[in-house]
Amino acid sequence: MEKRVYIETYGCQMNEHDSERILRLLEGSHYLETKNAKEADFILINTCSVREKPEHKVYSALGRFKRFKDEKGTIIGVAGCVAQQEGDKLLDRVPYLDMVIGTHAIPMLPQLLQRIEVSGEKVCETSFSQNGKYLEAVLPERPLNKVKSYVTIMQGCDRFCSFCIVPYVRGRELSRPSGEIIKEVKHLAEMDVKEVCLLGQNVNAYGKGMEGELDFPQLLDRINDIEGLQRIRFTTSHPGDLSEELIQAFSKLKKLCEHFHLPFQSGSNKILRAMHRGYTKESYLEKIGRLKKICPPIAITADVMVGFPGEEEKDFEETLDLLQKVQFDDLFSFKYSPRKGTRASQFMDKVEEKVKQERLSILQEIQKGITLQKNQELESCVEEVLVEGLSKQSDRDVTGRTRSNKVVNFEGDISLVGKLVPVQITKAYAHSLRGGIVPNYCGLRIAE
Ligand code: SF4
Repeated sequence: MEKRVYIETYGCQMNEHDSERILRLLEGSHYLETKNAKEADFILINTCSVREKPEHKVYSALGRFKRFKDEKGTIIGVAGCVAQQEGDKLLDRVPYLDMVIGTHAIPMLPQLLQRIEVSGEKVCETSFSQNGKYLEAVLPERPLNKVKSYVTIMQGCDRFCSFCIVPYVRGRELSRPSGEIIKEVKHLAEMDVKEVCLLGQNVNAYGKGMEGELDFPQLLDRINDIEGLQRIRFTTSHPGDLSEELIQAFSKLKKLCEHFHLPFQSGSNKILRAMHRGYTKESYLEKIGRLKKICPPIAITADVMVGFPGEEEKDFEETLDLLQKVQFDDLFSFKYSPRKGTRASQFMDKVEEKVKQERLSILQEIQKGITLQKNQELESCVEEVLVEGLSKQSDRDVTGRTRSNKVVNFEGDISLVGKLVPVQITKAYAHSLRGGIVPNYCGLRIAE
């Protein structure tokens, strides 16, 4: 008998992709997805503890779902980073919770769910796996009806930045064998997926410590050869592992999109040291300079944090200086907030909340102007756009992305979905572009 699963996902692309994998795994146990929690036989909250107020969010979601447990005995589980970190404690604190499943235990989910169904017992599985089994893909059997897809290539991180919880909740760096990744991308391309985004906490470290394995630029090179695939992206990267070979890949590989997300976190060398980031403002700028030289149209985006312990006004000014020097296409900016279990959470010289907020507002205002200006530079240019679907704003419009990852809306219908089309940009906005298809245009770098 078919059953229904409802998944609520918080956080990064890795979590989104994990939720997709879980859905595919559960299809084998006759669970189909529902977007309505009320209909579900199983509710799973896939949590993130990187940036949000994690436990608070989980407990509030659990509170919302309690009535389904009371009314119809819905099985309720928590997965992801908070599950990994809190483990049994979650089961102790929430009596109606049935399952806690850590970041390495996803492949065990169908068996654990079956155990709960049969015996009604509560389960908690948060041990770290020593092999890469937990990263294995679940290949889709039916057409995905999707233009783009994520592919996990590695998980975990060995860098231990002082503010970051990832190495504790995702474990140490572990890469998937390249043969498996290539097989998965080929399979996706055969299912008409046009773009893949390769995922990992630090994809630049792909293959490290695996004797005889490809490194990241070599993996990109192999994926570039896959027939039918049109575009390759990746996220996320650490500046310390950005090699010259990877920079060169942007001039060599036709399918590699001209966009690099390279978090810098702070422009102050003093704060970078306290963060244990392992690079300086100067070396970051040098790498950005190399990327722009090798690939002039490249769009650069990044993550930045304000108010890290010890950040003084002059440190913040260094960050603003870096913004001006790089001219980022977009920036994901946050106020520092301590994560339990990290070294920085013990640092004494905290920055006042009011100061953090002021700095964030100043930084965001400056970046808003830069982003708009970068978008305006594209006005009247013709861009290759991969059409992703109908626009949410108007059913006469479609929406897609340029190779530099900017959203473009333009007139068109559903027959364009999945196609690469030349679009002339007519108007730039803060978060998107407006344009129109150019008929019979032949100047695009469309990959064969
Ligand atoms: Fe966290 Fe990224 Fe630092 Fe790894 S490199 S510890 S994932 S911030």
